[in-house]
Amino acid sequence: MSRITFTMIKPEAVEAGNSGSILSKIEKAGFRIVAMKKTLLCKEKAGQFYAIHKERPFYNDLVEYMSSGPIIAAILEKDNAVLDFRSLIGSTDPSEAAEGTIRAEFAESKAKNAVHGSDSDENAMIECNFHFDTDERY
Ligand code: UDP
Ligand code: MG
Repeated sequence: MSRITFTMIKPEAVEAGNSGSILSKIEKAGFRIVAMKKTLLCKEKAGQFYAIHKERPFYNDLVEYMSSGPIIAAILEKDNAVLDFRSLIGSTDPSEAAEGTIRAEFAESKAKNAVHGSDSDENAMIECNFHFDTDERY
């Protein structure tokens, strides 16, 4: 089991001023921030990042939304990072997210759901490499 996962604080959560509270929750849950940056994804990059969802009906809206404002991208480290982080963020739809999870507290909707979390070790590596170079990791 890898110790690394990848997250993004999504545009509406950054815009609402929730980045600090979300990062605090992440650190209090035992994750170490290995690399982090605030950045604005162009449509092409947002589309590439979510290419796995290309055929889904929400894909175009998702690409528009994820390129609509700055995000915060980060590599996180912890034992069992991928699964523990998915537990910390909660279900995709905040109405189904468990109490105390980041999405239950900060998500606006199933689409604008505050944070991304990798769904597997393999995708965590792909997503970390998509956003960061090796020399940006400490
Ligand atoms: N999404 C959406 N509508 C849906 C499902 C997903 O807008 O019905 C968006 C939402 O922002 C979600 C992202 O697409 O976080 C990726 O979907 P996925 O199923 O991978 O959910 P996640 O892994 O983020 O929980
Ligand atoms: Mg996913």
